[in-house]
Amino acid sequence: MKVPFVSFIPLEQELNNELHEAFERVLSSSWYIEGEEDKRFEQSFAGYIGTKYCIGCGNGLDALMLALKAFGTGKGDEVILPANTFIATALAVTYVGARPVLTDADPQTFNIDPNLIEQSITDRTKVIMPVHLYGQPCDMDPIMDIAHRHGIRVIEDCAQAHGAEYKGRRVGTFGDASGFSFYPGKNLGALGDAGAAVTDDEETAAKIRALGNYGSDIKYHHIYQGHNSRLDELQAAFLSAKLTILDRVNEERRRLADKYNELITNPDIVLPFVPDYAEPVWHVFGIRCPDQGYRNDLESYLKEKEIGTNKHYPIPIHLQDCYRDLRYKSGDFPGAELIAKTELSLPMYYGMSDEQIGYVADTLNSF
Ligand SMILES: *Cc1c(COP(=O)(O)O)cnc(C)c1O
Repeated sequence: MKVPFVSFIPLEQELNNELHEAFERVLSSSWYIEGEEDKRFEQSFAGYIGTKYCIGCGNGLDALMLALKAFGTGKGDEVILPANTFIATALAVTYVGARPVLTDADPQTFNIDPNLIEQSITDRTKVIMPVHLYGQPCDMDPIMDIAHRHGIRVIEDCAQAHGAEYKGRRVGTFGDASGFSFYPGKNLGALGDAGAAVTDDEETAAKIRALGNYGSDIKYHHIYQGHNSRLDELQAAFLSAKLTILDRVNEERRRLADKYNELITNPDIVLPFVPDYAEPVWHVFGIRCPDQGYRNDLESYLKEKEIGTNKHYPIPIHLQDCYRDLRYKSGDFPGAELIAKTELSLPMYYGMSDEQIGYVADTLNSF
């Protein structure tokens, strides 16, 4: 049996008519940027997450970068983020000229360890950027508490966590602003690049919108040296169609995760830990292996058995070549390094069959 790491086919087949209608609607309108589709999606997505405002952007990286800029983050400022995340979280910070201050991740939750944040705060700390990695919400109460005590902003990186809940509330509603990605592989994915920032603050929303639209508040009047990063009408129309079934998609991912948890019995494999506060959306189902050798052998074994896997992420941010100038070294973040060496992501997507889950579990158990 073949089990790809991810497939978009089941979802696209189910929404085939709706996606074609979305395309026809935009084509017949002859309006491609900053129109009704964008407005409609922004309203529904803000409503879905539970914020007052949503601003469509070109991608998730831009959403984070524009939010940082909206809070005036720039040269001389520091931004705290986890060492175990996708590179985009750090790139958003360096794009605006600020310094990423990395903090270790907890190998149990894979997320930033709130107990290690306070020791990283300096006079220059402007923003904390928690990342709800793999669709698992971070422990937001202590993070918000630290931020409030120090007068620091919080920007949530929700690129992997559309619909995930912390203590019954959706992530993206805790920080001063939050960034989402609609990269095709995300739980809510466009048919191309797309992203959005959300916030409850009117001024922040207006600033993010202007910054993503050439720094313009009204046409040909430029108050900032802005960017061109907007959500186009086609992607907005596709996203509106997909948003209608996001809860069902997430529910199905939860069911598949439950199946994995029930069927994987190999005692060497550590299954994902879900804290009481968390209702994850399983963007990634990440297991942990006893050591790097075991992980790499398991990866090859699964490949032989035609099961696709992935590693999120094999090189933590502090060991990336592009960030050598930050002067971190191996051993600085043991939690993130352990994750990088021992994590393996199993196939997880809407439309995976019970037979496929069973086959993956049996194969893991026979290793
Ligand atoms: C995907 C992702 C991003 C960036 O989103 P893009 O739309 O690809 O720019 C940022 N942060 C995290 C954690 C991501 O997974």
